[in-house]
Amino acid sequence: MSETRKARSIGIDLGTTNSCVATIDEKGRPEILENRQGQRTLPSIVHLEGDSRILVGAPAKRQAVTRPKSTFFAMKRLMGRRFHDPEVERLRKALPFEVAEAPSGDAWVRHADRLVSPQEISAHVLFALRDVASERLAHEGPFEAVITVPAYFDEVQRQATKDAAAIAGLTVRRLLNEPTAAALGYGAHKFGGGRLAVCDLGGGTFDVSILNVEDGAFEVIATDGDSALGGDDFDLRVVSHLAAELEVEHGFSVLEDPVALGRLREEAEKAKQALSETAEGSIDIPFLGTVRGARLDYHRVLKRGELESFAADLIERLEGPCLGALAAAGLRPDAISQVLLVGGMTRMPAVARKLENVLGRRAARNTSPDEAVAIGAATQCAILDGHVTDVVLLDVTSRALGIHSGNGKLVPIIPRNATVPTRGSRILTTSGDDQAELAIEVYQGEDVELERNRHLSTVVLGELPKTRAGEVMVLVDFTVDVDGILGISARELGSSVPVSIQVKASSGLPRSDVDRLAKERAASGPIER
Ligand code: ADP
Ligand code: MG
Repeated sequence: MSETRKARSIGIDLGTTNSCVATIDEKGRPEILENRQGQRTLPSIVHLEGDSRILVGAPAKRQAVTRPKSTFFAMKRLMGRRFHDPEVERLRKALPFEVAEAPSGDAWVRHADRLVSPQEISAHVLFALRDVASERLAHEGPFEAVITVPAYFDEVQRQATKDAAAIAGLTVRRLLNEPTAAALGYGAHKFGGGRLAVCDLGGGTFDVSILNVEDGAFEVIATDGDSALGGDDFDLRVVSHLAAELEVEHGFSVLEDPVALGRLREEAEKAKQALSETAEGSIDIPFLGTVRGARLDYHRVLKRGELESFAADLIERLEGPCLGALAAAGLRPDAISQVLLVGGMTRMPAVARKLENVLGRRAARNTSPDEAVAIGAATQCAILDGHVTDVVLLDVTSRALGIHSGNGKLVPIIPRNATVPTRGSRILTTSGDDQAELAIEVYQGEDVELERNRHLSTVVLGELPKTRAGEVMVLVDFTVDVDGILGISARELGSSVPVSIQVKASSGLPRSDVDRLAKERAASGPIER
């Protein structure tokens, strides 16, 4: 049915906290697609109820307070990571739902008696975005998507993102690095070349990237960041001050009442956002709780200055990664020609001011910071469709790729920061007579000590010609495509015998699971958003 229909292109910012979808209009201009309620971004939150009811976005967010165990968020931080990853261990303590170890060793989540992969949960968010596009564009599908990922995502995290898209029934045209997308979203290809600093403060992370733009070619030359600094921390600062006040002034221990705490947190975030526009806001929570038998209605005026002082140390922490990225790029602040702010949290005036001070330049204001990435993803669709012709995107490998040399060391095959697509190869020989198989351990990372890199897969080359040790020579070819995904092929140099090749990934979903989940997703009912 769908084969005959022409695919529409959409650009997707699949965010940790919020996601956003954009498309290209008839004139080739990018535009954000709003949902029915007029919202331009969708909270990346999924609430699962029983086996079949799925809520995504605002309705799911409303369940977070009362049903925290089955309301999932921050999936992007788990996707493609191992359960014992230090980042996951840190996150687990802060997340209200259960993060569990899948049989593969990956970090999954528990919903009732079932383990669910973050890819599957993210697919619900992608499906909801696809739904928004479908409604806005009056187009049932198929859809081809450009999806953005952080520049530091490794190959497993990139593959996980592609798998989530496949489960949601989307064809991925390209994975695009977020800072590159943001720069495109700001129209950096129109305002000439130079070095751009892209500062992205989202809900949970802070990322700084330095881009070089020259003759319409974009290249990420350095990245730095703080994976434990984001808007959530600002909300928590407000909450902990208000909680202390509630204790002293009303004798009410909000920290011990999860529902009241959830409500306070929600209102604190709203007040924080409002204070980006006004100098004073108020927090009103009717019937927050009961104190000595009496109902407590909470009212508190919050001033912008108070928020700034509660979060003063968080704002200070923005400096380090900016200077780190500059140092990694070998640049002084005055070499930066444009500062681009990305992420909802950069709407806070004190945050923008701090970044502008550190980087010594006013930030561009021509695009919304929480829409720039999606607009850039849609612009990439226009580039791929040939509507925009003067831009070349040069993305680079986020990590080096290498293999185990046999003595606990890593032999690099493809360096870090190589412009993609790229390739590298190596000739391997047998070490025993009549050896029929050769196994290769593939890693991602730059450390010569094997253990400090990420194990990607075990590759078994089989059906080798039987002969004396060292006489078989196999040329193994590694390719990294434009999406940062690894491909491996091999051939025997001496004989014409083809080499069989089996790649066993140490993480991620097997192809068959992705296909099955995609069928289930397509066959199941609509989601509520
Ligand atoms: P992510 O990239 O993590 O998905 P976003 O870029 O959407 O996240 O940023 C989310 C964060 O931005 C949240 O902490 C949210 O409260 C904050 N935020 C959104 N709008 C504003 C605003 N107007 N002022 C201050 N913070 C805001
Ligand atoms: Mg983001």
